[in-house]
Amino acid sequence: MTAPFVIVGGDAAGMSAASKAKREDPDRDVIVFEKGEWVSYAACGMPYYVKGTVEDLEDLVAVTPEEFREERDVDLRTGHEVVAIDPQAKIVTVEANGERFDQPYGDLLIATGARAIEPPFDGIDLEGVFTLRSMDEADAIEDYVTAVDPETAAIVGGGYVGVEMAEALVERGVDVSIFEMLPHILQPFGEETARVVEDHLREQGVDLHLETAVEGFAGGDAVESVELADEGTVPADLVIVGVGVAPNVELAEEAGIELGPAGAIATDEYGRTNVADVYAAGDCAEATNAVTGEPDHVPLALTANRAGRAIGSTVSDDPTPTGETAGTAIVKAFDLGAARTGIIDPEQACEAGFDPVHVTIEAPTRPHYYPGATDLTVTLVADRESERVLGASLVGHEGTKRIDTVVTAVTTGLTVSELQNLDLAYAPPFSPVWDPILTAAKVLA
Ligand code: FAD
Repeated sequence: MTAPFVIVGGDAAGMSAASKAKREDPDRDVIVFEKGEWVSYAACGMPYYVKGTVEDLEDLVAVTPEEFREERDVDLRTGHEVVAIDPQAKIVTVEANGERFDQPYGDLLIATGARAIEPPFDGIDLEGVFTLRSMDEADAIEDYVTAVDPETAAIVGGGYVGVEMAEALVERGVDVSIFEMLPHILQPFGEETARVVEDHLREQGVDLHLETAVEGFAGGDAVESVELADEGTVPADLVIVGVGVAPNVELAEEAGIELGPAGAIATDEYGRTNVADVYAAGDCAEATNAVTGEPDHVPLALTANRAGRAIGSTVSDDPTPTGETAGTAIVKAFDLGAARTGIIDPEQACEAGFDPVHVTIEAPTRPHYYPGATDLTVTLVADRESERVLGASLVGHEGTKRIDTVVTAVTTGLTVSELQNLDLAYAPPFSPVWDPILTAAKVLA
């Protein structure tokens, strides 16, 4: 009998792999060790739980532990932390209920995800200072907002979690300030998009502090203020620290598994690490960038789900590539959407050997005579000589999912002229005859 397929981590990557492996090979034992109690949860929905759009935290769970065990025949062990991997002996050491035991594996998937970065700010342990990564943290933030009814909140970091939490807390009646060290929020989305979102946040009453470094937090037991490097203190009854994530790679590193240039676990196109029969997927692993062909670390949900699913096939004798990442992302900021894909930053494009040119246009999302048209701002980036589409960023009140057209162009290596000639769908309720993406391509070509 084949030794079990063992998975470390029970969220997007881990449970996708478990389900797929069981479907492909129902006779093989699949064991998942998850150190927490939640599995298969949509972390992406947590800001909307705090906002109140999602009523129960349990609603964010896609498949319950019972369903995995009873309907999918996955041997799921929650409250079990894998503390060591011995690749020579092909065993993992697991800690649960204060005891340790060894579990042999035939194939092993490391799907340990990432954790929120906690800078060494003074007062980071004060009550009312949170990061948002786990379901327990989402629960704790919701409880705190309900119990304390904060008047003011400070969000440290203007990334997508910070922006989503700003919307959530404003909806809960809190005065929100965002502190961002860089000149603009949403750095991966580029300056043109960021400026539009920044104006909109201010219109919604968010107090935006750009190029502002936070030094720490002050208070008694609970946080009362944020201390800034240059601007004194700002009152805050609640703080969300959202300054990015770090991949959970320690377990892998200690087992001699190589990390890649982006600091996450290095994998080949099938998700294999440098150690035989050990795979890695999701936020703890690197993936190949679709534009540069180089390893990249883009900790997002589809990358994790898809890589996990592919590895579930591969370990079941159906080798399946995990797929490349275009770094595609989309975020809601109150009434606006912002989306990005590929390479937008000129410096990054130059480093990758391109000579980037770009255009930013505003174009209506429907014909002028049809109700509901709004402007979509499209920034399209291409390589000067080859005309290859490198990336795009969109922002507007509707239509930002149009980024998916550019994702296709970026991933398949289309030129701007080829993008311009795509036969995109048109009817007045949906789009002008020249879709904003085509208009941007026409201007850039
Ligand atoms: P994780 O979800 O981090 O899961 C890893 C699991 O491994 C955890 O449950 C952890 O407890 C467990 N684990 C770790 N170490 C061990 C160990 N040693 N033993 C046992 N178990 C272990 N992505 C998008 O694409 N779109 C979005 O809109 C979006 N919004 C987000 C909003 C928020 C607030 C957050 C926090 C994330 C968001 N993401 C979004 C990112 C997305 O949630 C992640 O990319 C995805 O969850 C990654 O899945 P994963 O399985 O790789 O890792």
